[in-house]
Amino acid sequence: MNNLPANPNNASAFDAHHPPSNELIEKCVHCGFCLPVCPTYVLWGQEMDSPRGRIYLMKLAADGAVEMNSNWVSHFDTCLGCMACMPACPSGVDYGKLIEATRAQIERKTLRSSAEKFHRRFILENFTRPDRLRRMRLLLLIYQKTGLQAALRGLGLLHLLPKKLQVMEALLPKLRRREAVAEFTPAVGTKRRRVGLLLGCVQREFFSQVNAATVRVLAAEGCEVVAPQSQSCCGALPVHAGEEIAAVELAKKTIDTFEQAYVDTVVTNAAGCGSNVKEYGHLLRDDPQYAERARKFAAKCKDISELLASLKPRAKRQPLKLRVAFHDSCHLQNAQGVRSQPRALLTGIPGLELAEIPEAPICCGSAGIFNLVQPDTARTLGDRKADLIAPLNVDVVATGNPGCILQMQSALTRHGQKMPVLHFIQLLDASLCGKSIDSLRR
Ligand code: SF4
Ligand code: SF4
Repeated sequence: MNNLPANPNNASAFDAHHPPSNELIEKCVHCGFCLPVCPTYVLWGQEMDSPRGRIYLMKLAADGAVEMNSNWVSHFDTCLGCMACMPACPSGVDYGKLIEATRAQIERKTLRSSAEKFHRRFILENFTRPDRLRRMRLLLLIYQKTGLQAALRGLGLLHLLPKKLQVMEALLPKLRRREAVAEFTPAVGTKRRRVGLLLGCVQREFFSQVNAATVRVLAAEGCEVVAPQSQSCCGALPVHAGEEIAAVELAKKTIDTFEQAYVDTVVTNAAGCGSNVKEYGHLLRDDPQYAERARKFAAKCKDISELLASLKPRAKRQPLKLRVAFHDSCHLQNAQGVRSQPRALLTGIPGLELAEIPEAPICCGSAGIFNLVQPDTARTLGDRKADLIAPLNVDVVATGNPGCILQMQSALTRHGQKMPVLHFIQLLDASLCGKSIDSLRR
């Protein structure tokens, strides 16, 4: 702690609006069980870049022993918010709530450089707006279809771009035909449920095939699906980046929209969005008009794998002769506690063989906007995953979050591994529709 200056006022470094809870901080008994699953501790072996160290830094700031200076902030900027520390903690420390509160304090109280501010603004103001993403997608489609991307990559000219653009370019997926999702899709056969579908932002524009597959599977399993076209971003990226005001506004809009849809369940197929909407009760806890509605809304939210696991399979599964590595998204396995359900869906497909990737708790480096704002660490983690996948000899990598798909596909391509990274629901859809894996690449 010697390079963190003391707070001269000896008062808490946090302001009074939702500081990290002392009660949660005090639950940490410093046992260190969380250290081996923390990606930054695994990479650097530094106590202050571990969950235990970060909680200690929160305590020092709360006690007024340190200021929120750039050194202190850097240990939170390097946290992926992957929540791997939570299931590993025998004392039940809710690190998710602690880091969310800390990040909101950081964004309110500390100054970032103009370049950093502009970069974060650009990400948050574009990646949370499907209309802007749609225009961006069009330009990027032209970039790919005209052969410009291949030419620039082939000639090695991309290194002339600013690093932040290089990072985004490297994550760009191969853009495919956009598949529309109807506002209303009837159930096939007798209706079992009426569900709403959260379309996501990046998912809606860059992985529309995942939403289309989700709707087909739900309908085939007897669910009528309402996908309100007017729905906004759910606020996952802002909340994970500490932008509380923006997150609260987006959460309220999402609740308003889905209340009008009169659904039994709100289905999510992007783990980052799913973990966010399940926490609306906490996010809106102070709002007299929304607190109760937010709790009710959150209770209705389920990942697509959770909902399907609760329904007896009805649609016929056709064989898919594939060996598949399943990658647990952090926001699915750690934040939502969903591990067995996607595996059960995949192993229910005849002919499909599942392979486990070692070091499952360790994040791939995607983590919301982490791979854009901390690209070097993200790249190291992506490379680590690609190295672990290589010996498995799989045909496909399956996961449950668009951010992980982008990050893993980019890492695998860098390592010369050609297998596609798909959402697990695309594999189930392929099995129900009798599609080949090659059709999913096109
Ligand atoms: S959220 Fe992830 S990176 Fe952050 S402290 Fe926990 S395990 Fe480490
Ligand atoms: S496992 Fe829990 S109690 Fe132990 S050091 Fe980590 S956060 Fe603290």
